[in-house]
Amino acid sequence: FWNGSATESQERFPVSTGLCMTLHPSLRQRWNGSKGGIIMCGIVGYTGTQNAAPILLEGLKKLEYRGYDSAGIAVVQDNHISVSKVTGRIAGLAEKTDDGKLLPGMTGIGHTRWATHGAPTEPNAHPHTSNNGRFAVVHNGIIENYMDLREELTRKGYHFESETDTEIVVHLI
Ligand code: GLU
Repeated sequence: FWNGSATESQERFPVSTGLCMTLHPSLRQRWNGSKGGIIMCGIVGYTGTQNAAPILLEGLKKLEYRGYDSAGIAVVQDNHISVSKVTGRIAGLAEKTDDGKLLPGMTGIGHTRWATHGAPTEPNAHPHTSNNGRFAVVHNGIIENYMDLREELTRKGYHFESETDTEIVVHLI
């Protein structure tokens, strides 16, 4: 998810809408222990002619049944990406953003997280943003070699704001 400021070598990549079901052992264990409920994190994206945030919130509400511990949205406007995150329910995210009104813009992404790497806290909730604020990423799944990549990126001077495996992706981009 990109803030729109371009250089010649960069192509805009599409905001995607997708869902995942990850069968990594740690998730499978939670699946099995989930009293028959489904535990799958979720991703929703929107780009169009309406404000994105209310649509993202609606999408995230529809994904609630899958199970999650925290959630967040990112919306781009005038080359600036605004992010809002909460632990707990989507209702809390709706409240925090005044039903999305506090994040104007017609392109955005949203995520419900089921933590695998890092506690279910607000800094660990997605989206994660690049140090220069130009990219935001949501991700479902696990990056197995994230520790090696994190060490390498830290050596190169990137600053990490979360404990997640996901955050390495935004710094790699
Ligand atoms: N591994 C990532 C994290 O812990 C993504 C978890 C998920 O799929 O929701 O943040």
